[in-house]
Amino acid sequence: MPNPFSAIPLPPALHASLETLGYVEMTPVQAASLPAIITGRDVIAQAPTGSGKTVAFGLGLLHRLDVTLVKPQALVLCPTRELADQVAKELRRLAAAIPNLKVLLLTGGVALGPQLASLRKDSHVVVGTPGRVQEMIKKQALSLAKVKTLVLDEADRMLDMGFEEAIRDIVRSLPPKRQGLLFSATFPEEIRRIGHDLLREPLEVTIGGAAEKPEIDERFFEVELARKPAALAALLAQYKPESSVVFCNTRRDVDDVVEALGDAGIDALALHGDIEQRDRDEVLVRFANRSCSVLVASDVAARGLDIKDLAAVINYELPPDKDIYQHRIGRTARAGAKGLALNLVTPREMPRANTLEALAGSPLCWEAIRPAGGKAENLHAAMVTLRIDAGRTDKMRPGDILGALTGDAGLVAAAVGKIDVFPTRSYVAIRRADAGKALERLRARGIKGRKVRVARL
Ligand code: ADP
Ligand code: MG
Repeated sequence: MPNPFSAIPLPPALHASLETLGYVEMTPVQAASLPAIITGRDVIAQAPTGSGKTVAFGLGLLHRLDVTLVKPQALVLCPTRELADQVAKELRRLAAAIPNLKVLLLTGGVALGPQLASLRKDSHVVVGTPGRVQEMIKKQALSLAKVKTLVLDEADRMLDMGFEEAIRDIVRSLPPKRQGLLFSATFPEEIRRIGHDLLREPLEVTIGGAAEKPEIDERFFEVELARKPAALAALLAQYKPESSVVFCNTRRDVDDVVEALGDAGIDALALHGDIEQRDRDEVLVRFANRSCSVLVASDVAARGLDIKDLAAVINYELPPDKDIYQHRIGRTARAGAKGLALNLVTPREMPRANTLEALAGSPLCWEAIRPAGGKAENLHAAMVTLRIDAGRTDKMRPGDILGALTGDAGLVAAAVGKIDVFPTRSYVAIRRADAGKALERLRARGIKGRKVRVARL
């Protein structure tokens, strides 16, 4: 049954953005929640990752905004900085056709000073992590007196991360007359409780269940602990996933695995909580623009990230908890495609495998690892990233970078991939074979007549 956005009474600007984004049909969670959301009703919704929750609450909060009132009118709380950043970006895309609409990002991991400065300029929507938002309220730098919509995104993760008290504290600064929207991938008891306390007679929406379970090809490989690094390299050489995340249970393992893969000639990047924020951003840019095909991550670092369409998820070690296992492998097989989950299991981890088998109710698929025969260069990513030390504050726009690369006798447009512009830096993905030429060109000619520092990552 089709559920087009056109059936929802939204302002023309939002319909225009949806059209630009190519969103025509609503996803199930959008179809089930949007009609209630736009009437102003509170909603508590459970839906799996990748089901389009951001657009559901984004349209809801944007359609209620009064652009002439430059005060925060919507507050979106997210568990991590990366997730908040992704939500802010999606909101900006949805609001692209609304002139002068400001979305402010308030998260930890970056200096307080610039955030305090942007707060003085005011905005319409605040997206942030509970810790930093709470801090800004305490400093009296953020007034939430005009907030009409409160969104708790990935509420289960926020509670897991110990943000319950911060959330309750923040909510005390909000007007009592407001709309509350709570989104969560799971519905444990704590979520019901906080939903009951913070929302008023919410509409309950549950999407998912057996019928929509993604199809994932799960395979298990028994391997001695000392053989794991070689086994991982062999699996990557055998399956050659176009993009994969290797999950480790500890930060130590993340670093060790990246090093071992490097020794085996496989480019991999690490993502864990000890890595500086700016470097984490860079890692995500390189992974998303396809200049790195293997990301080695801890659960916390990967939490809530919109890393989509993974060809494979590899568990370097089985997680201690079956929910974490499901959460990890749920990142492959998005958007209907069949996914691949590969699991390395030592004899000591066998009880965890047995638990998964008992839950699945059918035997696990065990396979032997074929020794690596494939050559490492097969695993080089298609693209290479160039970092440019200039960004939004230098008035750099993606079109400027594309123009500098492709202008007279430059690269063909097809050689240029994703372009990401941050406040003080920009990144551009270049087809591997053209990377040298692109680097030379930018160094020799600059961008918009200005010299820029460029590095190949
Ligand atoms: P969730 O928060 O439920 O995990 P997201 O909001 O991150 O999911 O959405 C997942 C992806 O689906 C995003 O890339 C988003 O742009 C895309 N998307 C959302 N709604 C639609 C739609 N109606 N049609 C097409 N793509 C959509
Ligand atoms: Mg989401």
